[in-house]
Amino acid sequence: MALAQGPRHTKIVCMSDFTPTERTQVRRLPKRGKYERETVFAILDAGFVCHVGFSVDGQPYVIPTNYGRSGDTIYLHGSAASRMLRTLSEGVRVSVTVTHVDGLVLARSAFHHSVNYRSVVILGTARLVNDPAEKLEALRVFTEHVMKGRWEDVRQPTEQELKATTVLALPLEEVSAKVRTGGPVDDEADYTLPVWAGVLPLETTVKEPVRDPQRKNEPPLPNYLKNYSR
Ligand SMILES: Cc1cc2nc3c(=O)[nH]c(=O)nc-3n(C[C@H](O)[C@H](O)[C@H](O)COP(=O)(O)OP(=O)(O)OC[C@H]3O[C@@H](n4cnc5c(N)ncnc54)[C@H](O)[C@@H]3O)c2cc1C
Repeated sequence: MALAQGPRHTKIVCMSDFTPTERTQVRRLPKRGKYERETVFAILDAGFVCHVGFSVDGQPYVIPTNYGRSGDTIYLHGSAASRMLRTLSEGVRVSVTVTHVDGLVLARSAFHHSVNYRSVVILGTARLVNDPAEKLEALRVFTEHVMKGRWEDVRQPTEQELKATTVLALPLEEVSAKVRTGGPVDDEADYTLPVWAGVLPLETTVKEPVRDPQRKNEPPLPNYLKNYSR
């Protein structure tokens, strides 16, 4: 156990919690702020699209991209020509967010409408992955994060493909999660209003796979695709 000193309160946290910092302390509705590794990892593992925020010459950019997680690291990848990856590999500080929308929270007043969500914010500095073995492993992690079972099934990257791909590692050090669940919280006087209130749950669904029409053989649908879910 460790004692985390925040500007607003003192809190006991487990060793496996991320420590809230001045920058990652959730301020609005702080009880929704979560720092347990388990919670952060579950949110990161449920998704594979993040938004990467960074600043170049005073201009902030927020770029959507894919990621994969292994332990306390997330990996980003892309073309070696990508401005985002080039900028981050130069040590420019970055903020990465991952968001899942779980439902629309419909209150009796416009003011109390809300959204059920799970989100993570990561702050830090990424590291260019140069070591060939680590780079290959990062690409495996990245691919498996999106679709477990795919890496072993596909042709492995050639040396030239590896050269054309930049991989960045971002350590999970300064991290927060925020989670809202449950129904609307209305003002006491509004509960008698004749307005439907509750939650409209939302989720991403998996549909039937669509085979590439340019096929030269007919491999069966792999099990990892048949059973895909997030
Ligand atoms: C779901 C998703 C997953 C993706 N995964 C990856 C990935 O794993 N690796 C990867 O390299 N790229 C990925 N991309 C593409 C990524 O968003 C960038 O377009 C790409 O990295 C090119 O970046 P760049 O540095 O060349 O673009 P920049 O040179 O930074 O882009 C120049 C300008 O183009 C516009 N622009 C760039 N990207 C977008 C965009 N996505 N939407 C709208 N405008 C844009 C912006 O105005 C930006 O300022 C993904 C995109 C999406 C939506």
